[in-house]
Amino acid sequence: MDSAAIFEQTFARYNRHINPGVATLTKFMGLEVAEHSAEGAYVYGPEGEAYLDCLGGPGVFTIGHRHPKVIAALKQQLDLMPLSSHILLDPVMAEAAEKVAGIAPGACEFVFFCNSGAEAIEGALKAARSHTRRPGFVCAEGGFHGKTFGALSASGRDVYKADFEPLLQGFTHVPFGDADALATAVGNDTAAVLLEPIQCENGIIVPPDGYLATAREICDARGALLILDEVQTGLGRTGRMWACDHDGVSPDIIALGKALGGGAMPIGAFVATEAVWDIFDQNPYVHTSTFGGNPMACRAASVALDVVTEENIAGLCAERGARLLAGMRQVADEFGNVIADVRGRGLLVGVEFVDPDIANLVIAGLVGERILTAFALNQPRVVRFEPPAVITSEEIDRVIGVMRQASADTVEMLGL
Ligand code: PLP
Repeated sequence: MDSAAIFEQTFARYNRHINPGVATLTKFMGLEVAEHSAEGAYVYGPEGEAYLDCLGGPGVFTIGHRHPKVIAALKQQLDLMPLSSHILLDPVMAEAAEKVAGIAPGACEFVFFCNSGAEAIEGALKAARSHTRRPGFVCAEGGFHGKTFGALSASGRDVYKADFEPLLQGFTHVPFGDADALATAVGNDTAAVLLEPIQCENGIIVPPDGYLATAREICDARGALLILDEVQTGLGRTGRMWACDHDGVSPDIIALGKALGGGAMPIGAFVATEAVWDIFDQNPYVHTSTFGGNPMACRAASVALDVVTEENIAGLCAERGARLLAGMRQVADEFGNVIADVRGRGLLVGVEFVDPDIANLVIAGLVGERILTAFALNQPRVVRFEPPAVITSEEIDRVIGVMRQASADTVEMLGL
């Protein structure tokens, strides 16, 4: 079958068996090639059609697609033991946990591996309730933590919640970045404050300097835990190992996912202080997962963590992100009538348009030049750029050039 036939077959199968809305939207955006393979910063179609991956997962492919060290380790692990017996101790998981603990912020050193970011949040919420014996959570409006019931209850966009009410009780939402609102909301019944250090799906919102430090102080004063969701911001993405490093703040529990699997395996984790780990004192099986922490995923995580350090992924994200941000700011200066803001940290950059339809047209323009990106889930006015750290300066310059052209074409098309 040629590439066009593969796309049509895949499109029909999505329509019939997966999700017709996704199929239609993909076609509408001009993405009429099915994915076939990937390498570095590129995703390829069946006939080698090369797409520069500026969505990057989002946040999954920080060390690039199919990093050779991760792939080699996985092939080896597949020949040894892909899944755990759940009876004998697993040295692969033990090694991965030690490595996570070695780079985790502050005193977070006990690790529970799961399969996704949402599961990491579920575990963190359960741990906070169990450890503090308190019911409440304070979270941020517009925040995104995943779509399972607990994670969804913590998230802050109604459109994803309304159909699934009633959600979990005990969740209060306050404006992100507003320390006074946080101080008012956190009380003696608060188990934890749960925040993203930078709100990703809300359109790459960087909070004011000092906000996380104040959140830490508020939690300490009220006996609540601080949970930071670094599922998307973690492991170098923002130019530091953790986004909370920018503020010199460390949480009681950190949630990880996405890039932890080295762009090759699904894995999440919540990592907490020794004090919080009293949750397992009475019953070591109080929180479990059949596939969580399986040898394939942990092997990928172990190697990915080595790569993040050895290849200075945070440094690359800082340097290339600065170039991307500066370029996008120039484009915004030229198209001030349609671009409202450009913001971000490291290779986590958001361009906010004045209207979601304009954002969509610009995304389609990028796709036409085979650059992949998408809008932020909780803020469709924002086009986000989260390419792998292996993207080159030349490729970044090309993205900026295409963005300029796509913005110009959109302005002309709409007569603005
Ligand atoms: N937390 C954050 C900050 C996220 O960005 C996401 C996913 O985008 C999640 C949690 C949920 O992760 P997953 O989709 O792996 O469940």
